Amino acid sequence: MNICVIGTGYVGLVTGTCFADFGVNVTCVDKDASKIDMLNRGEIPIYEPGLKELVAKNVHEGRLSFTTDLGAAIKGSLVVFIAVGTPPREDGGADLAYIEEAARTIAANLNGYKVVVTKSTVPVGTGALIEKIIGSAAAAGGHKFDVASNPEFLREGSAIEDFMRPNRVVIGARSQQAIAILKDLYSPLYLIETPFVIGDLETAELIKYASNAFLATKISFINEISNICELVGADVHMVAKGMGLDKRIGAKFLHPGPGYGGSCFPKDTLAITHIAKEKGYRFRIVESVVEVNRAQRDRMLEKIKAVTGPLKGKVICALGLAFKPNTDDIRESPAVDIVRLILKEGAAVRAYDPAAMEHARLVLPQGVTYCNDSYEAADGADAVVILTEWNQFRKLDLARLKAALKTARLIDLRNVYDPASMRALGFEYAGVGRGCV
Ligand code: NAD
Repeated sequence: MNICVIGTGYVGLVTGTCFADFGVNVTCVDKDASKIDMLNRGEIPIYEPGLKELVAKNVHEGRLSFTTDLGAAIKGSLVVFIAVGTPPREDGGADLAYIEEAARTIAANLNGYKVVVTKSTVPVGTGALIEKIIGSAAAAGGHKFDVASNPEFLREGSAIEDFMRPNRVVIGARSQQAIAILKDLYSPLYLIETPFVIGDLETAELIKYASNAFLATKISFINEISNICELVGADVHMVAKGMGLDKRIGAKFLHPGPGYGGSCFPKDTLAITHIAKEKGYRFRIVESVVEVNRAQRDRMLEKIKAVTGPLKGKVICALGLAFKPNTDDIRESPAVDIVRLILKEGAAVRAYDPAAMEHARLVLPQGVTYCNDSYEAADGADAVVILTEWNQFRKLDLARLKAALKTARLIDLRNVYDPASMRALGFEYAGVGRGCV
């Protein structure tokens, strides 16, 4: 089977590469010529563990190619995946400009039956919109097509594993033929007994938003619990463990911290409240989740100041800028937001992140010195703040860190260290939700 994937970002590149690894012929397309040039040189435009090797293998074996020629890619494919961005608009709704542009290009290049599949996260009704955009061109040319929704649940940093071993595959379509083709495409996953959730287009579209809104709710919930822990002197980790062992609750996503970020949760929580509002309904729970998440950033700043005193004139070592470990993605990163807040208070920041510094440089204001490692970042600083839980920050040489710092203070916004051990080593230490503010 020949397929193409429109949009060669985090989702499109991983999707295309993994389908190629399943044995399908895949053309990945992007309108950003510099990305395609890089890929054709064997370079990967994003940081994603294992992706470079998997791309190289499938290119070498002749199943994966990259182009900017969208028309040719569409003409040569039975299945066309749309994996372009759906960023938030000012009003919180999803901006569908890239989706509509892709649909118009598909309409202009129909040359036979095709299944057009949205991998992007799109509001309910987008499948119907794509049907409308392609419909008249298809009727004029006498071509048939179907639209399907196949939302993606991969997580950056473990994207290949998530694609190859997903918790579930969701497919929504009106046509049985489209569903059969997509099931065939995913047939390697039957071998590992992956559950398939198959239904109508609108339901599949909503499953993605409902899932992300629920996960974001868990994060804001545990963050509020951690704030209460600080007020009553309780330990949020024990609370989370005690809650998570209840199978109806589950242990995942009960880690307190500076709040969620990234390219999905912030925009998807806004989008689902917007979808509801457009239908005259207030999604109050998720509105609160968004509000709690915003407030958590400010609370983290207060936590830092509670340890350091006024920040004006101080030097803060910031470890981590990516929105989570194992990615270079800084979109809506809590780390970046908190660095901005620290700078606004008049402190200088010495920052280190293993993958995200190039991106951070483009968005952060002046006042940040980008360093080569954690110890260089700590050199002469008044405090260290752990903002992203990269593995290397879990295993710092604490004696070396202490020696580099002007004052031995560590504010651990990801709770990677044990408070009692840190204090025993002579650090003034603050974590999140561990009985201390
Ligand atoms: P991205 O910004 O990394 O990539 C999108 C790519 O699409 C860009 O390279 C852009 O140049 C390209 N593009 C835009 N319009 C195009 C067009 N008309 N023709 C060809 N290329 C075009 O975005 P992403 O993070 O991969 O996210 C894509 C979608 O998947 C979003 O809807 C997102 O919500 C969803 N999603 C993302 C993740 C994630 O972890 N990043 C996970 C699940 C779902």
